[in-house]
Formats: sequence, C-alpha cells, structure tokens
Amino acid sequence: MPELPEVETIRRQLAPHLEGRRIVDVEILDARWTRPGPPGPVQDELRGAVVERVGRAGKYLDVRLSGDRHLLLHLRMTGALLLDPRAEPLDTRVRIQLDDGHRLVYVDPRRFGTGHLLRDSAARDAYLDARLGVEPFTPEFTAEHLARLARGRKAPVKAFVLDQRRIAGVGNIYADEALFRAGVHPLRPAGRLTRGQWSRLRDAIEEALAAGIDAKGASIDDFRHVDGARGSFQDRFLVHTRAGEPCPRCGRPVRKVVVGGRGTYVCERCQPRPRAQRRSGTTRTAELMRPAGR
Ligand SMILES: [Zn+2]
Repeated sequence: MPELPEVETIRRQLAPHLEGRRIVDVEILDARWTRPGPPGPVQDELRGAVVERVGRAGKYLDVRLSGDRHLLLHLRMTGALLLDPRAEPLDTRVRIQLDDGHRLVYVDPRRFGTGHLLRDSAARDAYLDARLGVEPFTPEFTAEHLARLARGRKAPVKAFVLDQRRIAGVGNIYADEALFRAGVHPLRPAGRLTRGQWSRLRDAIEEALAAGIDAKGASIDDFRHVDGARGSFQDRFLVHTRAGEPCPRCGRPVRKVVVGGRGTYVCERCQPRPRAQRRSGTTRTAELMRPAGR
C-alpha cells in the first residue's frame, strides 16, 4: 500500500499539472469510489471546479477546490493516478478532463481506493481528525508527544507506529526501516520505550520517510508514478524484505518475524528483543501480539 512517501511523490508530481486548472469533465465509472455516498452528486460538483492546491495528510491526497471544497483521495492497496496515459488503462475507475487538454485517470484493480468530497474546511478537518494522528515533519511530531500517546500501551511498538490514528502516514515498509534505524525491536511494548528510544525513533521515522521521498517511493507492489514509472526506494531498503541478507550495520542475517499479522524484518543484534519475549520464543509471541482491529 502506498505510504506517506509514495503519496507525497504523487502529490509533488501532480501539483504543477493540476493547480490552477479547471476540471471540465469527470466520469466516475465505479460507484464504490465515493461510497457510502453515490457518485452522481460528486461528479456534478467536480465539473467546473478549479483546483487550488494539491495537498497531503497522512496517506490522503487533499485536493482543495474552488468554493472551499476538498476532494480526499486514498489509494489504498492498488490505486494509481496516471496523467495522460497513452491508451485507456485497464481498471480505469475515474476520468478527469482538465481545461488545458490534459487528462487524469484513476485506476484501481482491487477497487479499495476512495474519493470523498468534503463541502468545506471544517468538514475536511473533522474527517481527517477522526482518522489521522500526528503528522511527521510537523512541529507537533515530538518524542514527548509519542511517549505520551504510548503511555501504558502493551501493544508492540510496530503496531503503535502503524496505527494511523496515532502517527499519520507510516505503513509496513517505513515502520520496519524506522525501527531498524532506531535500534528498537518491533515487538517491544510501546509503553516500555525509554525517552531516549522515543527520541531515536522519532528521528528515525522522519529519516526513513525522507529517504523514501528522496527515492520517489517504493514500488514493491502496484505503486506507480503519474507517468507510470516505478519508485526506487525498494533498492535502498535496509531491512524490509531483506530476510537472510546481512544487516547493513552488523552483518548478521536479517530475520523475518510476524508482528500483528504483518511480515516484519529485524536485526535481532541491532534491535534486541525485549526480555520477556526472549523466554517465550518467536512464534508464540508473534501470535500473542496480534492487535485488535485494523
Ligand atoms: Zn545488525
């Protein structure tokens, strides 16, 4: 699934093409895109709207339109936005025609992606506040804030980092990379990290995300740029998907474990396993650590 760096890559590629343009036509071909609402009213309201700004919040693209309306796009598993594709792509869900002749197409083979139109800033803020926690690269993203959120939490720190309602934008790739950079084992209970570990993890999250943005995202799945090209961050992973390969820091083989049902890559020398879980063994702990809900 595209994470913060992949969505930010799309945002940066789209902004110069969309900002200031008027939408002259919209066809929403898949009613699931706007659910629970019907696509008709969204289609009508997008026609004639001017794109003022292409922003991002967590993994959402936030397209601000004239009249203080916001189209919030989430790509989920397999969504992609393509600018001027040469032929009509398979799995096209939405077609957007701009006043300068360019065409934006939303494709999504698995159809989990969504497009929600919020009719003013207050509605947009309420929508995002209910779904997203603190945003990396903002002044609020501090070690103190994270430690406070995690206080008393027994869930593994990786599950905590993945929870969009706590930290916005981090998914499976960047959680693994950040925990490795910080030297923190993904199974460590979130409430048990020291202040020093929170400080390292906070910095490591931003470093991992910045490295991902720098590489224009990771394409280990369907992620594509607006011109159909692939990102290159998958070639720079430190531990993610690197099971059996030497740890870039100490040379010991990277291990794959399961945390909260997610494949997780770790160097257990650089990221020491918490004491209580060393006794109970890998498989059992991984099973105990399945989080509730998403
Ligand atoms: Zn290591």
